[in-house]
Amino acid sequence: MLELKDKDIGENINIRGHSFIFFIGGMSISDSIAFFEIIKTYKDISTIYLAEEMKDERLFRYMKLNLETDVIFFQQRSYDSISSMLTKQPIGTKLFLIGEWEMIEDLKQLAIEAGFTEEEMVVKGIGMKEEKVFCAKCYHLNKKTDQNVVKCDNCNTKLDVSKHYSKRHKAYLGYISM
Ligand SMILES: [Zn+2]
Repeated sequence: MLELKDKDIGENINIRGHSFIFFIGGMSISDSIAFFEIIKTYKDISTIYLAEEMKDERLFRYMKLNLETDVIFFQQRSYDSISSMLTKQPIGTKLFLIGEWEMIEDLKQLAIEAGFTEEEMVVKGIGMKEEKVFCAKCYHLNKKTDQNVVKCDNCNTKLDVSKHYSKRHKAYLGYISM
């Protein structure tokens, strides 16, 4: 369940000179309508990208009636057009990413490749963020536990879980334990 307060959004949106692009996925229909009720009063939203799986007649009707902003549906994991759109954005554009962590991490990566910095993104993840440990030996991603040592699911190597988070692998690096 997503907890977004009017204040959270307002503080982030009312930054002068910025226009916002929203990416929204993984929200229930009633949560999204509640959310749009909040954001419809903000003027600087340039486009709302909505995950395709959220397509719903009721939501669609609501958006047509209440939102002046363009709404574009996107498919998760087919991000080519988003990538090229992001590279064309003027300086000062901010991104607001809401959805499951996996989708958010993908979009963040695209945005960074398109030249956005982390400061230019507001991120609201839904659900638990699953942390991973990258095996230095076989490159397998393992589930992170609260232990300092994990055994790789794939090659059985004992790994020391480092504090070093690799953005490229989206995981903590696990070094072969001696
Ligand atoms: Zn391994």
